[in-house]
Amino acid sequence: MIKLASLSKYFGETVVLDGIDLTIEKGEIVVIIGPSGTGKSTLLRCINFLEQPTGGTITVGDLTVDVKRASRADILSLRRQTAFVFQNYALFANKSALENIAERLLVVDKWPKEKAHQKAREILGKIGLAEKADAYPASMSGGQQQRVAIGRAMAAGAEVILFDEPTSSLDPEWVEEVLGLMKQLAAERQTMLVVTHEMSFARDVADRVIFVDGGHIVEQGPPSEIFQNP
Ligand code: ADP
Ligand code: ADP
Repeated sequence: MIKLASLSKYFGETVVLDGIDLTIEKGEIVVIIGPSGTGKSTLLRCINFLEQPTGGTITVGDLTVDVKRASRADILSLRRQTAFVFQNYALFANKSALENIAERLLVVDKWPKEKAHQKAREILGKIGLAEKADAYPASMSGGQQQRVAIGRAMAAGAEVILFDEPTSSLDPEWVEEVLGLMKQLAAERQTMLVVTHEMSFARDVADRVIFVDGGHIVEQGPPSEIFQNP
């Protein structure tokens, strides 16, 4: 479960998030849509403190953090319970696919190397890239790189995976394989919060679609309601 209460973000005088209230149940797939520049990416980034939120509270699992009083330990715990998939993959260029997936387990979760690599191999199998274990990002297609990035997020066993326009940087030919992996995760009831322009994903996969504009949630509901033709 993840719960945001009165979450706000100002950049100087500019209000980007104006008191967002949002609860996502375990296993729920939530898609956020809305015009460009309206704070969707900022919302995701505030949840794991890639941006420092201005006010409000964030609850993930049994941890509740008042963002104004967040300690270093609170932020690390939040980051452990959330995993982020970026538009541009953000893989380590000098690490193999296997090492990219194992990295967080080694550094954040302090797993021993053997156990982390074993888990990474298991994940590579799940994402259909077992044969790419030793490949470096530059030798992989955009679609393969983004699947590795999703694998890295899966490995963490986080409460929720945050996706920030995960297909927007991809050549059209790779979009379907990334959406396919996301659908697989959704079918396993991995809790997901997804910012995307892929309306087919929102329509077919989301349990709930949230329309954000001007720093507010202006409408939300099941896709059948949100995409209803007038
Ligand atoms: P979206 O994801 O909906 O396209 P963003 O969250 O990226 O929107 O951006 C929302 C607004 O916040 C935009 O007006 C953007 O210019 C502004 N913004 C984002 N990051 C910063 C920043 N670091 N400093 C100042 N303004 C920012
Ligand atoms: P996206 O739209 O893909 O979410 P943007 O292009 O809006 O990303 O932003 C890319 C980076 O630039 C982010 O780190 C964001 O915080 C920063 N940024 C965006 N708008 C501004 C701004 N007006 N001033 C300073 N930094 C910004």
